[in-house]
Order: sequence, then C-alpha cells, then structure tokens
Amino acid sequence: MTSQQSSPADSRDPATTGPAHRSDVLEAALPPAVSGATLSSAVAAGGVPASTGGSGAGFPHGGPTVDRSPVIIARGLVRHYHRGSETVRALDGVDLDVRSGEMVAILGPSGSGKTTLINLLSCLDAPDAGTLTVAGRPVTGLGEEALTAVRRGRIGFVFQKFHLLPALTVAENVELPQLFLEQPIDRAHTLEVLRAVDLENRATHLPRELSGGQMQRVAVARALITRPAILIADEPTGNLDRANGEALFALFRRLIAQEGLAVVVTTHNHHLAEQADRIITLEDGRIVREERGCGVGERVTEGG
Ligand code: ADP
Ligand code: MG
Repeated sequence: MTSQQSSPADSRDPATTGPAHRSDVLEAALPPAVSGATLSSAVAAGGVPASTGGSGAGFPHGGPTVDRSPVIIARGLVRHYHRGSETVRALDGVDLDVRSGEMVAILGPSGSGKTTLINLLSCLDAPDAGTLTVAGRPVTGLGEEALTAVRRGRIGFVFQKFHLLPALTVAENVELPQLFLEQPIDRAHTLEVLRAVDLENRATHLPRELSGGQMQRVAVARALITRPAILIADEPTGNLDRANGEALFALFRRLIAQEGLAVVVTTHNHHLAEQADRIITLEDGRIVREERGCGVGERVTEGG
C-alpha cells in the first residue's frame, strides 16, 4: 500500500466536536447514509428503528451459505428532476435485480443516472414511478421515516469521498454508525471488521496517517459495522489510484465470498467493472447494455 497517495478526507473542524453535543455535530458533519439520520435532520432525533436490533451473530454475518434470493428488485424505476420548465429524465424506466453474493457494477458516462439510481436503491430518494423492494421490504411509497428504517442496518454505503472524521481514530470512525443508532459499541467486533479490510493494525491511527486506499477501506469497514445485507458504493475508486482501485474491487469480491453480501458499485472504469458478476451500462437514464463480468461462475478463493 502506497503512502504518498493521501487524498484528504473532508476537513471538518475537529474543534467543533466537543463532548456536549458530539452526536449532533457529528451527524451534521456526515451524509445521512453514514450517520443513519433521516434526510431532514429535524426528524433525525427520533428513536432507533426496530430493524437495527441485531441478532447478536458474530461477523461475518452471512457466512458461506448464501441465500441467493434477490435483495434488490427494481421495476420501471423513474426519477425526473424539474428545473424551471425543464425536466431532466435522470432515470427513465430501469429494471434491476441484485442477489446476495453478487456484485453488480453500474457503468455509464457522467450524467447518465448512476447516482440517481444508487440513491433510489439506497432508499435515500424515492422514485417518481416504478416499484422497488429492498432486503425483502417493498419500499415504494414509504415515507421518509420508514425509508430511513430500511436503510439503517440493511445497507452500507461507500462514497467517492471517504467522509472520515479527522479527529477520530480509525476504530472510532468505523463505530460511528453504531454511535448514531445508539447501539452498544463492541470493540472486538470493530477489530474483526477492520481485519476483514486488512486494517486491524491501524485501529488507533488517525485518518491523516493513512493512505487514500486505506482511508477508503476504513469507510468500507464503517459500512459493514452494522452487518448490512447490501453494500452500495458510488464511484468508490474516484479518489484512488489504479492499484488502490483494483485492491478495493478485490476487497469487494472477497467480502462477497466471505460474507454473502450483495454489492452494487458505480464506476467509470470498464476494467474495474469487469470484476463484477454483471455490468450494467446506463445512458440517459436507461440501461443500454448488460454484460457478464469476470465474477460469474467463480468465487474468490478464501484466504486469498
Ligand atoms: P451520474 O451519477 O451518472 O453522473 P446523476 O444521476 O448524478 O448521473 O445525474 C443524472 C442526471 O440528472 C444529470 O443530467 C444531472 O444533471 C441530473 N440531476 C442529478 N441530480 C439532480 C438534481 N438534484 N436536480 C436536478 N437535476 C439533477
Ligand atoms: Mg454520480
């Protein structure tokens, strides 16, 4: 792992994260997908949803026996944005199934609708038309609170920007979702998750002491800490060099094989996308191509 590549995480001012309203401040500093907050922060002070109860199972949560039923079923998803008199057809009728143990890459030029699709699959936004089932739950038509409940605990997120808090250690950054969800912090579990991303020996380091690739792996660990069924990553290699990008996709493959996760990842990079089981290409809000990637029919051998 190179250390010269150090794309900075967001430079939020650590001085503002005093102990008094620490959770509030942290929540304001992070995207809702990380903090688990509802989209309108006014509602965010609400209770912990039932879906985050946790089974007490260890990590990995899925184990090698993978239930191959679809965890995402999307039909005819439409999302139009209105700007004045103009309508942007960001997503224009997308069908997609994603199963546990499967990695789906979403390719497409800038503006083709990748992030719009990701936001819908993540329950961060609601479609204007179409139906969507996530982790066995029909989510179409649900209100914001209910969408948040589905999102929390079932979906882990990784972004192009790492969104690590600079004043917190690696382990504390990984534990943030549990902090927001008022779940008990289990440092042993944190270290197991850090081991899964090859960072167990960095638990007490600060983000600035890590390379870009390592910072993104911290973000992956943070996404996994609540044992989600689905990992969703929007251009996660956008701030990484080629070697770190390839390492991240290899990590996704390993997590799929070991944990039985479903992974949906967007990228501009066809070479990286080939590591997925399926490659979906979007153009102008529609799926224009569906290909098999190298992941089909072969599972990454354990311990590799
Ligand atoms: P991608 O992630 O593939 O670059 P996006 O999903 O971000 O594409 O955007 C798809 C289209 O929708 C683009 O034309 C973009 O300008 C437009 N768009 C995205 N978000 C908004 C928004 N909040 N308001 C208006 N238009 C938007
Ligand atoms: Mg995008």
